[in-house]
Amino acid sequence: MPLDILTIPCLADNYAFLAHDPDTGDTALIDAPEAAPILAALAETGWKLTDVLITHHHYDHVDGLQDILTEHPARVTGASADAHRLPALDVQVAEGDQVTVGSETGAIIDVSGHTVGHIAFHFPASKAVFTADSLMALGCGRVFEGTKPQMHESLQKLAALPDDTRVYSGHEYTAANGKFALTIDPENTELISRLREVADKRASDIPTVPSLLSEELATNPFLRAHDPAIQTHLGMEGANATDVFKEIRTRKDNF
Ligand SMILES: [Zn+2]
Repeated sequence: MPLDILTIPCLADNYAFLAHDPDTGDTALIDAPEAAPILAALAETGWKLTDVLITHHHYDHVDGLQDILTEHPARVTGASADAHRLPALDVQVAEGDQVTVGSETGAIIDVSGHTVGHIAFHFPASKAVFTADSLMALGCGRVFEGTKPQMHESLQKLAALPDDTRVYSGHEYTAANGKFALTIDPENTELISRLREVADKRASDIPTVPSLLSEELATNPFLRAHDPAIQTHLGMEGANATDVFKEIRTRKDNF
């Protein structure tokens, strides 16, 4: 049975997720922006917290952890590269390592760029990847610690996952990301129709996360640096995809 995944809005625009194995009852929390909504979700579902998986060190992904662990002791997993600035870890991982949630195995993908040491958790049997502030719906995280080519390489790893993978990213930024995407890819009819769906969902306060990787491949400009229409629009015909990505990310920083 695939993991049962619950999206939990936290703080102003963050998401945390509970991933529950219905066979074993084990449950992982992915990121802990704040305790209260996560504790409420655990109480409401009755799920037993066994694991916490941390994507990166930013406060809006770890601040709720201590209060959650006080009530629900669990095994905490995070990147070895980030161990010095994460809350205490029980398990340190790096790309190539695996984690288990109940009977499901997840792979660690290094997605450095937003921070150095940012990891994603891919659960192939559940067709789910937890990307936090690397690949986001219609966007990607700002490059604070790594380099733009490094972020491009990280996103390429995620782009290579199966098309029907659901992307559980860390923030509700989709509408704002979409406004920017339209300035890069204005003729993209799939993007235009996706923006209508996003506006409808947001008007009803429905999360736009998770999204499908196939939608991101078709509409997210940060996965489309190789696209001839985008290159022409930017006056960069035939340029290499990394340079086009750098230009798109720079424009987003100044948008
Ligand atoms: Zn962050």
